Formats: sequence, structure tokens, C-alpha cells
Amino acid sequence: MAGVSGAGAVVFAGCNIPDEELWVQSPVNLPEDLVTGVDNWYATVCRQCASAEGLLVRVMEGRAKKIQGNPDYPTNAGKHSARCEAQLQELYHPDRIAQPMARDGDGFLPVGPGADPYADSLEWLVNTLDSLKGRASRVALITPPLRGHLGQVVSRFASDYGLRYLTLETLGEGVLRQAVKDVFNADRLPHFDIANAAFVLNFGSDFLSTWVSPVSLARAYGKFRNVEGHERGTFVHVGPRFSMTAANADRWMPVRPGTEGVLALGLAKIIIEHGWADPQAVQAVTGGRGGAALEAFDIDRVVRETGMGDYFGVDEHGVSKAIPKIERLAEDFATHGPALAIGGGETAAQTNGLQNMRAILTLNYLVGSVGQKGGVLLNPDSAVPSVPASAGGASFNQWRAFTDALRSGDIDLVIVRGADPVHSLANLDFGGALARASSVVTFGNFWNETALRSTIVLPEHTSLEEWGDDVPEPGPGHQTLGFQQPVVRPVLNTRSFGDVLIQSAERLGVAQGPSGLTMQELVRSGAEELFRQNRGLIIGATDAEEYLKAALSRGVWSDPNTKGPQAGSAPEFDREIPSPQQDGNGRFFLVPYLSNALGGGEGAHLPWLQAAPDPITTVVWKSWVELNEKTADELELRIGDVVRVEGPSGAIELPVYFHPALPPDVVAIPVGQGHKENGRYARDRGANVMSILGWSTETTTGSSAWAASRVNLVKTGEHVTMSRNEGTTGIIREPHPGEIIGVTTHAQM
Ligand code: SF4
Repeated sequence: MAGVSGAGAVVFAGCNIPDEELWVQSPVNLPEDLVTGVDNWYATVCRQCASAEGLLVRVMEGRAKKIQGNPDYPTNAGKHSARCEAQLQELYHPDRIAQPMARDGDGFLPVGPGADPYADSLEWLVNTLDSLKGRASRVALITPPLRGHLGQVVSRFASDYGLRYLTLETLGEGVLRQAVKDVFNADRLPHFDIANAAFVLNFGSDFLSTWVSPVSLARAYGKFRNVEGHERGTFVHVGPRFSMTAANADRWMPVRPGTEGVLALGLAKIIIEHGWADPQAVQAVTGGRGGAALEAFDIDRVVRETGMGDYFGVDEHGVSKAIPKIERLAEDFATHGPALAIGGGETAAQTNGLQNMRAILTLNYLVGSVGQKGGVLLNPDSAVPSVPASAGGASFNQWRAFTDALRSGDIDLVIVRGADPVHSLANLDFGGALARASSVVTFGNFWNETALRSTIVLPEHTSLEEWGDDVPEPGPGHQTLGFQQPVVRPVLNTRSFGDVLIQSAERLGVAQGPSGLTMQELVRSGAEELFRQNRGLIIGATDAEEYLKAALSRGVWSDPNTKGPQAGSAPEFDREIPSPQQDGNGRFFLVPYLSNALGGGEGAHLPWLQAAPDPITTVVWKSWVELNEKTADELELRIGDVVRVEGPSGAIELPVYFHPALPPDVVAIPVGQGHKENGRYARDRGANVMSILGWSTETTTGSSAWAASRVNLVKTGEHVTMSRNEGTTGIIREPHPGEIIGVTTHAQM
């Protein structure tokens, strides 16, 4: 471990240590009745969600006490989220699995009685892998998408051994990735330069809450709104759900799920016909035909298909009120540059999601934003060639094929690390299929639905206890490498998953296996490579050792002088967009969304996150179904009434929460609850919306069209009290000058 003071004479340009924190927490200033000690701040990388941002962890007397964003990390620049802070609870959680556990009938017992149960468990795993070497396709490995050296170790192990490797991303963004490739010819997610934009037009993505890299995007959004000498940016959100991002917009334009591409092309038609677009771009995106290329997207069609005609109604002349709103949006977007069009989430998760996303991203060419400040900037490759800089999830079609293989008895051994596919793929009944595998090995720290179906469960280091590195995705527009280091000694008898794979490869004699270096040595090798390149923000080190100390002290290397490639020429707009197809014939469009605090369920075992109010509903400790107020009236429902939500793959029961800002034909349900098991704080809480989703896929990529299900609501007659802050404290009036306000204690109430 390297403390923040370990950099010696090495200079880190842009260094921004939180001096005030160090001063406030110094022993001199501690109250006398506290145990004194010296605090150290260690820089590392957050692993609580896929954006993997930079952190500083305060450690006193060997214990991690506080986490905050690393000011030197270019993506989050000192900011962090509640999910990130909750890692402390994960580290010291009383329900952490303390030792290897092996199935015993319907339950589990500690592996034993040997002297080293972990070594014995790994011996069993290596022997099992060895016995299956000639039938490697009967072995599968499941992880979340992994970047950094760990991603390299896992991919090489998978390919060299020959097993099936699947990456699991709940409510994944595979369609966005394909659209980025189609429109910008880029393999990595670009840097959407919101901070420097004057106008942001967002379709569907909840970028202020959970989408792609929410802390860095929220930070950029703050600059977009507030920087001095920079006109306050204008933000318009398009989408069927009133998300936290929609709530922050200047204008919210509700549309029916899957019709966002029709609106984007309707906007393009208006922009071209008014001569507001860059003429060269018009040539490219229309194949030289100009506005005629988009003649199918006249404003009447846009109003009709998007549902905006229904949502906005008509004026006294019987003209849709949506028409001037759409025309104004087109003009504002085209004439208030730099303008940026982004999208994802439920917009991409449709059967026609790729066409939607292509139309949206291509708008950026029309207004000259591609490759420009305040627009779309492509990210460069990794500075260290051995460190993968991009990773996405397997498609739904790949998961379906794998589930079929499990059911057919074609898989003998499944190794799962850092994922809970039984919960996330409940609509595929992945749990039922997994029961057909002869052995299941789970690397994880908490019991969950997948671990409970395992043969053996092996606890691993948490991210605060292990080595790693990461190239952030999306990056900040220049090359960056984050360094993850153990900030405390392992609390329990755990191992690093990367090191386990490296050692297993050696034991198995897997051809061209990982280099044999440990994860720590791989991290060091990345720093050595950067030392050789001698550029970027770490300068003045005399040898690789000193360079490594500087890198670990700051937690990051980056080179702002690097740039991504130029995007290719603008693609032609699709001439037509197929209508979205929904699963089921229920009355309501269902929009599932990642929980602001729990993500896809990864944080459900942490009470801090369970108690974090949802930013829109303020509900805690539960899940719910959001419903339009008038629709609720019509169905004679009150907040807290329990309804059965009947979807294409099953039904769940949830209390209703309603507000006026949801379209009357849409319901929305957060993902993240509904665990049968996941520790005492998550067990039997809420319902798992993933279990009722249909199997529709985006037609080109095979990715899950997870926002393309229709559902019905059926009253159950049950009612529950919802734990929420909203509306429970009433309105507190301002006191008159000099007035003394009476206080009632809790005991008196
Ligand atoms: S958004 Fe993700 S990576 Fe960033 S601080 Fe929060 S949990 Fe960590």
C-alpha cells in the first residue's frame, strides 16, 4: 500500500489532495474522548458499478472509515455516489461469507476439516477443471463485463482453456455500443461532452442516476448548468418515464416506448428543411437527397406515432399542441450550439432500438457536434495494450442459447463470479436451468439466489482488499489508467479471483495462459509500461519503483494531450424505422429501470442503500409500481394498494405509487429488489421485475428489449404502508420574526 505522502519528489500535475479533510481529521483536532490515531488516505478505484471511478479511502488504525471521490481522477473529479460509499458496509458486513462453504444436502457447511479449507477448495476446483479439460465446452464462466488487467486474465483463461465465457449486465447497453460502432465507427463508448455543450437533447437515458457513468455525467451536468462565463445550458429530455434525469430537464417530452427514433428523424427533417444544418452533413446523412430523404417523417406522423398528440392534446382550433413543441425543439437544438444528442436506456431496449439509437446519434453530425468541444468526442485506446479498455454484456440471445444448453444437460461446471444470474435472468428461469449443471462454483461474499444453488461458495476479496486497474469507460476523451490497491488487509479468509485464475491456469498447464504474474505484478507491469512511455501527468520519477509509488499515491495516470480518433464520415439516416413490437398484450407499457441506490440488485444487501430514498418517489426499503394519477383514479387505487402486475413471463405483486408526470399508458418499476436471499437486509423485500419481462430482443444485436413488455394491473385488495419521506412531514411554514417554535419530542407524539 502506498499512502498519499509516498510520492516523494515525483510531481503529479493537477494534484489536488483534500488538505482540509486531512486537517480536520488530524489527531490534534480530535475530541479528547476519541481513540487517537493517524489517518492515511489511499487512492483506489471504485468497483461498485461498471463505471469504476477514482476514490480516496480514509484508513485509521487499519480500518477503512470513509470513502470519497478522488479529485485527480479525470472522470469523477472528486465526486462519488452513495453506492460507492456503501462499500464500507460491504467490507465489514456481518453477513459476509467468512470461509469456503460446501453444499450439504439442502444446506451448506464450512469446507473442512483440513488445515487450509480455501486451498482444499481450490484443489477441488482445479481437479474438476482438469478432469473436464478435453470437454471444455461443458464448462462455463459468468462474470460482469470486466476491463483492466482482470479482464485480460479472465478472457485469456476462458479462451486458452476453451470454456464458454458470458458477461452479465442487468438492463445492458449492448444496443448503444452497436449504435456507437455504426454511427461513429468506434469500439469504445465516446465522451459525451455535456459540460461544454449549450444544448443537450437526451432520449431515454437516466444519465443523472444510473446510466453508463452517472457520477461523471452528473458532474458534467453541473458545469453545463452553472459555469461562470458560460451561458446556462438548456436540457430537453425525451422518454416515456419521468426519471430523475427527466425531472431535471427544462422540458420533458413524453413519448411512447420505441418511438424515439421517429421523433429524431422528424426533428432532422425540420432542421434540414429550414436550412439549419451543416450542408456537408446534410449531403452525407441524406445520400444527397436533402429533406426528401426523410419525407416519411412528416410532423403529423411524428405526433401520431410518438403518442405526443394524445399526451399534449389539442388547442382551441383542434391542432395538436405537440406540433409547436416539436418545431421549437428542432430549432433550439439546431441553433443553440454546441448541441449534443445522446440516448440509451429504455430507448435502446426496444425491438427497433438500434434504429432509434442510430437516428439519435446521427443528429450530432447534422449540427456539427462530432469531434467538437461540447459534442461527441471519441475516446482513444488504452495506453497499456494489455489492459482492455472496453467491455459489454453478452446479448440476451447468447443467454438464451446458454440456458438451453444448461437445460439440455450440456454443461457440467458453471463458475460464477460477481453476478447473480438466477435473479437477473429470472424471466428465463435461469435458476431452473442451472439445477441441471453437475457443479456450480460461486465466488462471492454474500448468499444470493445463485450462491444458494452452488456446490461450493468461495468468498473473495472485496475491491478494497485487492489489486487491479482500469481504463474508465466512457473515458474523459483522453488516455487514462486507474490504479486499484488494497487499502486494508483482507478482513476474512478470502482470495483475489484474478490470482485464483492465474494460479489455476498454471496448475492446469493451460497453453499460453496468463503470464504467471500475480494481479499485483500485473498492476505493476502497467505502471512500468507508462514509465517507459514517459508522458502524461506523472513526471520526474527516476525509476519504475518510484513511478509506481506515485501512480498508487494518486490512483491514476492520464495524458490530456492524447485524443481519440476522428469519427468516420456521417452515416446515412435510415429511411424507415420499423414499429416497435411489444411482448404481451397488456394495457400498459412497462418501463423497468435500475434503482438509483441498489443498481440491478448488487446493492440490495447494504442497509445504507436500502435506506437511501429513491430520488423521485422517496420510497425506501421496497419496490413499487409507478402509475399515472388519473389512471390510478380510474382503477380506484390509492398509494400503497397492492396490485398484481401480470407480464409476459409471470406476475409479481407490488404497491402502487402514482404521480401526474407519468403517461397514462405507462407503468414503471425499479429493478433491484425481490431477492429470496441476499442477506438479512435484502431477503423477501419487494419484487423482482426481471421475472415478468418478455423475451423480445432488439432485432439486429439480439440484445434484450427489456423495455418492450406490456403488462396488466389487477387489484389484490391488499394495502401496505409505503416507507417514504414524501408527504410525511407536511409543509413547514416560515416562523414570524422572533417567534419561538414549539418542539414536540418523539416520545410526546
Ligand atoms: S457511479 Fe459507480 S463507480 Fe462511480 S462512485 Fe458511484 S458506484 Fe462508484
